[in-house]
Amino acid sequence: MLIRATRNCPWNRCRFCGMYKGKKFELRPVAEIKRDIEVMKDIRDRITELAWRSGYGGRVREVAASILNKPPSHAFYNIALWMYGGGEYAFLQDANSLIMRTGELVEVLRFLGETFTGINRVTSYGRSKTASKKTLEELVEIHEAGLTRLHIGLETGYDRLLEYMDKGVTASEHITGGRKVVESGISLSEYVLLGLGGKEMWREHAIETARVLNEISPDFIRIRTLSVNEGLPMYQDVDNARFVRLTDEEIIEEERLLIEHLECSSNYVSDHIANLLQEVEGRLPEDKEKMLAVIDRFQALPFEERTNFRIGRRARIYTYLDELHDPHKHMMVEQIIDRLSQGDQQVDEKVVYRMMEGFI
Ligand code: SF4
Repeated sequence: MLIRATRNCPWNRCRFCGMYKGKKFELRPVAEIKRDIEVMKDIRDRITELAWRSGYGGRVREVAASILNKPPSHAFYNIALWMYGGGEYAFLQDANSLIMRTGELVEVLRFLGETFTGINRVTSYGRSKTASKKTLEELVEIHEAGLTRLHIGLETGYDRLLEYMDKGVTASEHITGGRKVVESGISLSEYVLLGLGGKEMWREHAIETARVLNEISPDFIRIRTLSVNEGLPMYQDVDNARFVRLTDEEIIEEERLLIEHLECSSNYVSDHIANLLQEVEGRLPEDKEKMLAVIDRFQALPFEERTNFRIGRRARIYTYLDELHDPHKHMMVEQIIDRLSQGDQQVDEKVVYRMMEGFI
């Protein structure tokens, strides 16, 4: 269930992010957010009542599924979808709910918990700069009011790169904010952006990011891969070669360096389609060798097979390396490569980037 606690992003300057560009940040009055929650409850109650009236009893999922086919409104659709999914999770939008005054955020969280007693996970996005400015007591209060998980965009732990990307935070603030969140009891996911260092800073990006993550030891490290669409502030730099992007294969080398330097106790999760090797996942530190072995396997493949996998992945044909052994899929990818390379098996990296950007 999505609850819009604030609108857009209060920082909105990161050069690799186009999510809220051109949109003004707004705090919303608590009364307005509470009204939204009440409307959601009303819709939930109406769907539940409909289930009883139509003889489904407590089987509300089936009724919710039928509403999804022809919802009377967008709000109905959202609540029906949420009920269909089990009705247990809520998410406070948009980019940084921690920016709310602590008292107001606590009031919203408490109201949500009282109104929807069956919710057992409330998640939100936050910036580490904002978290670093809250006291530990405030974060504990937010946790106790119901916020169970926070997603923070770490992106990198390398100060020069943070500055170049205008992330508005330093490595040291990342550590302070992240540590406080962990200490408060809120489960923390830190997002890392592979490829962000480009050809110039990839080593420092990997090593410094690992250093910062080791200091924080978040519950989850979530991996994303840089994608540069034309609307992004950094696009001009890519266009005039001030920022030179890493190839897929170089990004895998960067990921290896990152993992090699990680010494924290965290779940490493690669849950995004733009990541080339999505199966590089596991619990750190115990699964480190297993994760590196996946990278070894990919890098040991002959050039044609690596190309086949990369293109197959970008074309959404493959998820796992083992699928290279599927003759049907392999053949499909060969045909795509033939078309893209005009027969010489060399696919221009720009074409690969364009395929990737199609995912975002
Ligand atoms: S803080 Fe997050 S949402 Fe805001 S501009 Fe940066 S990456 Fe985008």
